[in-house]
Amino acid sequence: MKITSIEAVPFTIPYHHPIVAASGVLNSAEHVLVRVHTDEGLVGIGEASSRSFVYGESQTSIVAAIQQWLEPALLGADPLAVEDLYEKTSWLIANNTTRGAIDVALHDLRGKVTGMPSWRLLGGVSTPIRVTRILTMGEAEEAADEARRAVAESGISSFKVKVGTGLRSDVARIAAVREAVGDQATIYVDANHGWRAEEAIRALTAMADYGLDLVEEPSPAEDMIGRQRLAQHVPVTVMADESAPTVADAARELTSGSARALSIKTTRTGFTESARLVAVAGALGARTLLGTQADSMVGTAASLAFGSAFRQVACEPGELDYFNVFTDHLVTDQLVVKEGVLIPSELPGIGVGIDEDKLRHYRIDNR
Ligand SMILES: [Mg+2]
Repeated sequence: MKITSIEAVPFTIPYHHPIVAASGVLNSAEHVLVRVHTDEGLVGIGEASSRSFVYGESQTSIVAAIQQWLEPALLGADPLAVEDLYEKTSWLIANNTTRGAIDVALHDLRGKVTGMPSWRLLGGVSTPIRVTRILTMGEAEEAADEARRAVAESGISSFKVKVGTGLRSDVARIAAVREAVGDQATIYVDANHGWRAEEAIRALTAMADYGLDLVEEPSPAEDMIGRQRLAQHVPVTVMADESAPTVADAARELTSGSARALSIKTTRTGFTESARLVAVAGALGARTLLGTQADSMVGTAASLAFGSAFRQVACEPGELDYFNVFTDHLVTDQLVVKEGVLIPSELPGIGVGIDEDKLRHYRIDNR
């Protein structure tokens, strides 16, 4: 079997409401569907998401990187040589979600060739994963209402709260969410580098009574000394996300004592590098949680299939329902969170197909 083409389809799906984080505001998903075609007719799919303020990628740059560099490098190659193809394209720096999408598509294809779900090929088991709802960074009561609805509608018991708007409003938001979801629910916070190290220590100390499980990217990773100091001074585990998008970065963050957990995003590290991240974290006693790169149901299905296969990942809650902010979905097999968990699909590969009518409607390349 040979790779005959790699299709990159930019699509835009509006959100129900704007998403505000310390690093930017988003009104719609601006993603690229990646399809690896073969001479035997089988097709693997993956999703790249443009995050200019994290990776410097746009829909246009993702499509260009595939058309100019990655498709020519992979044409004619054996699509089952997944590890080898990941190395073969490793000369391309940055372009994190573009490379991740191609790697996921190759793994999806491997599933379709063998007739097996990706989780079976990776680890053999399909553990359901508890879903984390990411709450809007708005007023305290808004966040609390959103959390209450997630509990009532989907049985969700894990919440990520975005912080970095100011000590008072951050603490008020956490207090309101804890009050809304009760003592047993998991709550963690993500500052997206929005605090200085000293501010982070102050804020997390002020939040100590609300039982936070983790703090994600509290302060800029460039401030290595500040990060190490805060990791030692706060009563919660520090999780590295955008500061550890590669194995080398993760090794540095974990061994320097700046973090004790990693956010694993298959949309940026594919399955190949994500598996290496899980191994590095496991060896160093660090936790691994599935994160989301604002994934649609395509990226989420990939993340779920991956995480389910690894005990160390599946025992943690995962950010697996970002798609709830999408006004529509491209997949034929929709994901539904029930009793707070998602159950991995028994279908081959990542377990979702594409609705071609929907893709025609949302693609922005006028084809
Ligand atoms: Mg994050």
